[in-house]
Amino acid sequence: MKKNIVVIGGGAAGMMAAIAASNENTNVELIEKNESLGRKLFITGKGRCNVTNASDIDVIFNNIISNPKFLYSAIYSFDNNMVMDFFEQNGLKLKVERGNRVFPDSDHSSDVIKTLKNALEDKNVKIHFKTVLKDLILENGSIKGIVTNKGKIKADAVIIATGGVSYPVTGSDGEGLNILKKHGHSIAKLRPGLVPINVGEEYIKDLQGLSLRNINISIYNKNNKLLYSEFGEMLFTHFGVSGPVILSASSVVGKHLNSEELSLVIDLKPALDEDKLDKRILREFEENKNKNFINAINGILPKKMIPVFVDYVGIDSYKKVNEISKEERKKIVNGLKNFKFTLKALRGYNEAIITQGGINVKEINPATLESKIIKNLYLAGEMIDVDALTGGYNLQIAWSTGWLAGLCAGDVNEY
Ligand SMILES: Cc1cc2nc3c(=O)[nH]c(=O)nc-3n(C[C@H](O)[C@H](O)[C@H](O)COP(=O)(O)OP(=O)(O)OC[C@H]3O[C@@H](n4cnc5c(N)ncnc54)[C@H](O)[C@@H]3O)c2cc1C
Repeated sequence: MKKNIVVIGGGAAGMMAAIAASNENTNVELIEKNESLGRKLFITGKGRCNVTNASDIDVIFNNIISNPKFLYSAIYSFDNNMVMDFFEQNGLKLKVERGNRVFPDSDHSSDVIKTLKNALEDKNVKIHFKTVLKDLILENGSIKGIVTNKGKIKADAVIIATGGVSYPVTGSDGEGLNILKKHGHSIAKLRPGLVPINVGEEYIKDLQGLSLRNINISIYNKNNKLLYSEFGEMLFTHFGVSGPVILSASSVVGKHLNSEELSLVIDLKPALDEDKLDKRILREFEENKNKNFINAINGILPKKMIPVFVDYVGIDSYKKVNEISKEERKKIVNGLKNFKFTLKALRGYNEAIITQGGINVKEINPATLESKIIKNLYLAGEMIDVDALTGGYNLQIAWSTGWLAGLCAGDVNEY
């Protein structure tokens, strides 16, 4: 007799789990609360879906922030090359871009979803839309089925992949986590991850919309200990800071911000040391020697930043540059190398690319992703306390955990 496997959540992890669980000995049903599959997948990578990352496996693990060791079995069972092979063998052409980020050749996330849908159809997975997991049916510590808004479904094994709590409009609203908590699982503190950050300085509003390239950011605690540093691009918003390097930094910032004050230091000229920068400023002043300070640094800073920077270094904006002293030049150099902001709070889940925290990894067998608390219940994807930086790594986690959970749940000898 075939075994019934029920997968909850038609996101990246759930779809991959259903595909992997489906074999000649299983009937697989996929439960999704939305009326379509992959609503979050659709908005990934600004609609292009950064499917995975083509770097070496040690780079993949280095980019996993929380509990990388827990993910060894999952990642090795379905690594980035296997993910790429899976999509290509199922007809989706891929391309590799800057930073080894992998995208569909068409630049459409909808093609990734279409490929998964076709694979689910080929495997005869039955999909229930607008069906919401409400509870689990347990007997002697083992799962026997689920309760949904439409009734009960019997199961020999269940895989839960209902995601975290970020971008809840896509469906991931934390209900799955609450149900697991009710049945004995503990949840590592949830936090928005890969998220913009509020800063304390009022003048941030004057910088709104300005994006900076080729800058270096550093995050320090109040004892001046360096917590994070990265080179790249960032963006000022009406409340604070965003853009690639800030989103990555937020994963580290979130872990410290509740307990200590943090500062963001921007090196606006990372290619020049202080000496070279001073010479560069002198050259600029020489070319503009009869101009006021505020009109003499157009070649050094973006226009929008100049009035804010002039205030920041505390030099009279109408001072002629040929009157600026060596001491004042030092202040300018220091401002360019260490433009500082106070980090106040992470933005909320509505703006967070991922959720940090989730089901405690100590309660999940890393070799099978079976719950150690409820037999024949498997967990996959962002709902587990694992997360990574940007670059395709979070979807890699979803594919790998979905695949391993599906394979193990579909292994009928287990029952
Ligand atoms: C704007 C944005 C851009 C991103 N871009 C990238 C990127 O380019 N590359 C990358 O690697 N990562 C990216 N991510 C992160 C990545 O999308 C997630 O890590 C990944 O989708 C997690 O997959 P998941 O299957 O675990 O959860 P989800 O994709 O959230 O899927 C969970 C599914 O479960 C369903 N569900 C929830 N509760 C219930 C319930 N009670 N009953 C039934 N169904 C339920 C939901 O409707 C949803 O369909 C991005 C995220 C966002 C928000």
